[in-house]
Amino acid sequence: MKVLVSDSLSQSGLDLLCNQPNITTDLRPGLSPDELITLIGDYDALIIRSRTQVTKAVIEAANNLKVIGRAGVGIDNIDVSSATQKGILVFNTPAGNTVAAAEHTIALILSLSRHILPAGISLRNQEWSRGKFMGSELYGKTFGVIGVGRIGSEVIRRLQAFDMKLLAYDPYISVQAADRLGIKLVDRNTLIQTADYISIHVPLTPETHHSISTDEFSLMKSNCRLVNCARGGIIDESALYIALKDQQIAGAALDVFEHEPPADHRLMELDNFLSTPHLGASTTEAQDMVAIEVAQKVVDSLHQLPIENAVNQPNMEKFDVLQPYLRLAERIGSFQSQIVEGQISGIRIRYNGEIFNQDVTLVSVAAQAGLLRPILQGNVNYVSAPLEIKQRGISISETKHSTPNQFTNSLAVTVVTNQGERIIEGTVLTSDDIRLVSIDDIHLHAEPEGHMIVIYNRDQPGMIGMIGTMLGDYGINIADMAVGRKDEEDHALMLINVDSKVPRHVVEKIKSLPTIMFVKQVEF
Ligand code: NAD
Repeated sequence: MKVLVSDSLSQSGLDLLCNQPNITTDLRPGLSPDELITLIGDYDALIIRSRTQVTKAVIEAANNLKVIGRAGVGIDNIDVSSATQKGILVFNTPAGNTVAAAEHTIALILSLSRHILPAGISLRNQEWSRGKFMGSELYGKTFGVIGVGRIGSEVIRRLQAFDMKLLAYDPYISVQAADRLGIKLVDRNTLIQTADYISIHVPLTPETHHSISTDEFSLMKSNCRLVNCARGGIIDESALYIALKDQQIAGAALDVFEHEPPADHRLMELDNFLSTPHLGASTTEAQDMVAIEVAQKVVDSLHQLPIENAVNQPNMEKFDVLQPYLRLAERIGSFQSQIVEGQISGIRIRYNGEIFNQDVTLVSVAAQAGLLRPILQGNVNYVSAPLEIKQRGISISETKHSTPNQFTNSLAVTVVTNQGERIIEGTVLTSDDIRLVSIDDIHLHAEPEGHMIVIYNRDQPGMIGMIGTMLGDYGINIADMAVGRKDEEDHALMLINVDSKVPRHVVEKIKSLPTIMFVKQVEF
């Protein structure tokens, strides 16, 4: 079997590959796209980092390829859907740099608090200015972590040594899981308003993009220090520049930027700003771990062993009858996760109809994977989803009902939070036509596809026209719209399929209307 390593990789990973008796490894970093297309047909496995672009054309030429391993997290340089269609497994290695990123976060927090960079520069310039660099202690302060996943949890563990009050915001972990970590879960605004330090550890998603912007800065304490060692684009850098310049907040440290390297250098001119060029994962230990992990997983998958962190599920055709229900379960799970409000604690799945008179484990797993996918940047598969759900302290319960309700077969997923329950039901019309048929017992018919907006509004005349006009004014075309209401209640539901993503400010504008109770954007 032949493995192509088309980006640089630590020697430890290469050694592991070279020591395999049945595997030949070629290290060819720096191949051009055309060279890769010419060569790829010979290889069973491909190992890449962020440089190699695994495009549709590469996949088309990859006639022997069984697996693509990404050393690192991001998979935006891989055409995963073409790979899936061709039965090629794609995986990444998200855990190898967790400690490195957590330690870098702590380094930024301390450096910011004690002015390490400007003080060092001043000394290098042969100044001895002690009064100018009066620092501030972490001890006794309130620290807010946004996103309690791998890195957020490691940051929290390290912060416990500083005797701080630890708050966190992450709707996708249970109170029990937070208790185990020794943190208090709070809502987003409470965290932003009360923290002396805020550190961000969420993925970049439509929900998190520019989620720290002018409004959030206006809520922060004037002594607040903000750190982003997660992904560029979560903080709106223009708004940050104004907040720092006007001393709305005390300081900020960024390891990541919306555009890397950043073209706008205004932030770097500010004394209360600290930055590093995306160094979170840059330790020799992390690079070694990632290289060994990617090499071992390629070897395992070439030997047909199951691996963690697959980002796609090729060869699922064998679950023929249930296949569309897996898709439906994933879509409902994903929908639920994108509109969730409050702190999630449990999921209930109800199977209606005779098609489910068989082992439905995979359908349940599909719902769990769907729920996690939008919040974990696709770093979830049918192996890891149940483990992740368990670790987050989210309970799962399932019931089967063989008497059909309105549909021969349907699937309903309820998400339970500290703010209540939301139930979404869907059905399969034909093998490639799945539909949502009710939300919170409001009946409708909608295709869970592309970009959607979910709106709860007061049930009064003119609402549909008003929303349609508002979207039209911003050049957003409505492709489809489903509406429904419950007779005994005064609210109605609109589910709108739109041709393009709705900008955050438009969502906010709709939200601000007095007759609107709830607006969320959902993306598939
Ligand atoms: P993870 O998937 O383990 O954790 C992410 C957490 O964010 C999850 O607990 C999830 O529930 C939560 N979350 C998702 N959406 C949220 C939202 N809207 N609000 C609040 N919480 C939300 O990821 P990780 O491995 O801990 O990585 C965290 C971030 O760090 C990612 O953006 C990753 O790309 C980045 N990262 C950066 C570097 C670097 O070099 N600076 C290195 C590694 C990872």
